[in-house]
Amino acid sequence: MKRIVGLLIILTCFVNVRALAQERPLALKNVTVIDATGAGPQSNMTVLVTNNRIAAIRESSKAQLPRDVRVIDMQGKFLIPGLWDMHVHLSKAGENTLPLFIANGVTSVRDMGGDFELMARWKKEIDQGKRIGPRIKISGPILESLTNVERMKREATIEPVDRFRLGVADPTSAEAAIARLAGMGVDFVKIRTVASVETYRALAVAAHKHHLDLVGHPAASPEEILKAGQRSIEHGFFPPLIDRTLEQRRELFRKFATNGTAIVPTLVTGEALLIPYERAKAIAEDSNGKVDVRRQYLSGYLIKDWMEQVEEKKDYPPGFIKLLDERLRDVREMFQAGMSVMPGTDVAVLLVWPGFSLHDELRLLVEQVGLTPMEALISATRAPAEFFGVDGNPGTIQEGKIADMVLLESNPLDDIKNTRSIAAVVSGGRFISKSEIQEMLAECAVRAQQENSKSER
Ligand SMILES: [Zn+2]
Repeated sequence: MKRIVGLLIILTCFVNVRALAQERPLALKNVTVIDATGAGPQSNMTVLVTNNRIAAIRESSKAQLPRDVRVIDMQGKFLIPGLWDMHVHLSKAGENTLPLFIANGVTSVRDMGGDFELMARWKKEIDQGKRIGPRIKISGPILESLTNVERMKREATIEPVDRFRLGVADPTSAEAAIARLAGMGVDFVKIRTVASVETYRALAVAAHKHHLDLVGHPAASPEEILKAGQRSIEHGFFPPLIDRTLEQRRELFRKFATNGTAIVPTLVTGEALLIPYERAKAIAEDSNGKVDVRRQYLSGYLIKDWMEQVEEKKDYPPGFIKLLDERLRDVREMFQAGMSVMPGTDVAVLLVWPGFSLHDELRLLVEQVGLTPMEALISATRAPAEFFGVDGNPGTIQEGKIADMVLLESNPLDDIKNTRSIAAVVSGGRFISKSEIQEMLAECAVRAQQENSKSER
């Protein structure tokens, strides 16, 4: 029986994808457009999508539509660009989580480290319409100090370290490491730890030579990061910059802003860290999703990794929460100094939910960093497109742009939490209705349960 159910799911997925790929022109009628260019909302608009592009945006009374168009009346709904999650680890989250991003309106992600081959395959299948999932920007394996890689291998956690990390011993091996990543065809390189400041510099020089942006953890001093032209700082400075005066921090952050260095603070990971051990354990172990309904969609490697992280919770040092507070103060000041702040969740971290948690990150950017709902919306749409280059990267609702959009029941400018009120998603021009989203989620749950029971056997 199980096998038949599985086959049916594969068949329906296949049919769905094919049907979606042959979509007629689509007109979203009478919708309020929040285009994320910075302009205010425009009501009573009709947005025409042909192939996978936004073909026209007109007042509904003036819209001219092609004859074979599929018109969907979206009266009372709000249309925003598809959201980006700027920090995920998809090879840890697993293929079953890809539809969760789309179901949550997250139509693009920046993969911050993992198995390159796997990412490249999923990216291709998604781009060709053979698989439902977000557009992916790929870093490939994470650059680490070689000593760290060796320690990780000794610890023998479930991570396939050789596929997820690239150890760099010293400045002389930096060029070869970057050349290897460039040869794979990565979109950028991500650094996490370095053996020395000289190695950091050598990696930056090599990345520059290969025309690859360097992003990642603050693996060197702020001044070194500034000099290296690192394009984004992940998580913030840790420990936070407590030994500097307010004026010194401001000056530093202004320089980062001028340099075009963005901050991706991954605030949800901080929130997840505060969840006590017992509750984290209860959620992670409950494969039916009775404690947290989102748990039913997850399985496999991700859950094994989560179990390891649950146990690590016991080791947090005292004073840890204060550090989180000060990290937040840095982020607030970075934003005030004009740095681009973008939402990233660090999917694969314990109790960070693929797709779902992006909405929490947006809420935290408003509540804790001080962005307005409009600024938060832009941080998840236009800002990532600008980060990667607006040509060919979706981020605004404008004619000629890739048609990645989200329809909302309620106005996100009234309350950023309304980005959760998803009425439909348009991904690469394909309209995915609310009921199709529900079906996608149900399929995800079934697949996760199958995988869970397989691994329990
Ligand atoms: Zn990460």
